[in-house]
Amino acid sequence: MAQPSRPIYLDCHATTPVDPQVVEAMLPFFTEHFGNPASVGHFYGWEAEAAVQQARNIIATGLNAAPEEIVFTSGATEANNLAIKGVAEAYFSQGRHIVTVATEHSAVLDPCRYLETLGFEVTYLPVGSDGLVAVEELARSLRDDTILVSVMAANNEIGVLQPLADIGQCCHERGVLFHTDAAQAIGKIDLDVQAQHIDLLSLTAHKVYGPKGIGALYVRQRQPRVTLAAQLHGGGHERGRRSGTLYTPQIVGLGKALELAWASQASEQARLGEMRDRLWQALQDLPGVQLNGHPTQRLAHNLNLSVAGVDGQALLLGLKNVVALSSGAACSSTSTAPSHVLKALGHTDDLAYASLRFGLGRFNTPAEMDQVAQACRETIAALRSGVAAS
Ligand SMILES: *Cc1c(COP(=O)(O)O)cnc(C)c1O
Repeated sequence: MAQPSRPIYLDCHATTPVDPQVVEAMLPFFTEHFGNPASVGHFYGWEAEAAVQQARNIIATGLNAAPEEIVFTSGATEANNLAIKGVAEAYFSQGRHIVTVATEHSAVLDPCRYLETLGFEVTYLPVGSDGLVAVEELARSLRDDTILVSVMAANNEIGVLQPLADIGQCCHERGVLFHTDAAQAIGKIDLDVQAQHIDLLSLTAHKVYGPKGIGALYVRQRQPRVTLAAQLHGGGHERGRRSGTLYTPQIVGLGKALELAWASQASEQARLGEMRDRLWQALQDLPGVQLNGHPTQRLAHNLNLSVAGVDGQALLLGLKNVVALSSGAACSSTSTAPSHVLKALGHTDDLAYASLRFGLGRFNTPAEMDQVAQACRETIAALRSGVAAS
């Protein structure tokens, strides 16, 4: 098989290329429209502020929220930190208990662990072997001193979609705030902060064909009005919730990226689901291959497999000229520990190590799925027969 000069990119859970239409929308805001949106006294400030406001409106409308409920951040990591630490600091006199899930991203787990060092108590709920959290179990974990529940919308390794509306309803019945990390879900599945009873929602541009370094936090302003303790202090931007000069080009890019994703969400998710199924059908009969995570309650562009008896690192190395993949989260792939998500499904270390995460995207084609499937079959066969991969 002829090898492509650049491997096929199937790591869209780590990041995505910026759509050329997004780049085009951003460019004038580096040069011509360079003003500071906080310069309220002149034209340059006004045109930058108008662009920021337009992006804010796009995001708010897409989430069924109000524009003043959107706080721009540097990405989902910062949005998660602001949501979790900001609520903890603002509500600690009402309680110091937080509930989250074992399979969350480190940008949720680490702020929670940090808060434990300050005297907060955190419950890390387990998941079933399909990766789903049980809502009854979550309900049982709520206490009188619980101030926040944080459950991700879609998992970044196994793509599993948590039952947001049921969790949100359960939280609101108990008067507990509900935060969701929607970094992987935004632009891929429907999100509605009213219907799903969401009080805080983190999102990022670079998983949805926007630029790196920009994201937002939705913060509910009525029924209930969520108070946040700022984590960055300074000029009082974003109604005092996040100081720092707004990064106009990136904000324009975030708005454009979401506008594009939402405009084609239904058809694009159907296309990606068909390609993902094509890849899975070409691999599922291999001995020892198993699907990780719920078979249908998952993102359409995600496939996560374990291959029993095969070393995951050797598999990735064997595939590296054909396809760019990872075995887990990009942020933990430098560590040698097995994936905490796959461990939470009940996997042994060996099976967790022997995993492949496929994240398909806007610029992939069905023919690429066939190439990747063939390369996987050949590499797995070679590793099984003891022939070193080239
Ligand atoms: C990528 C990701 C993050 C981090 O987002 P950044 O914008 O890169 O900081 C957080 N949570 C999840 C689920 C992610 O996939």
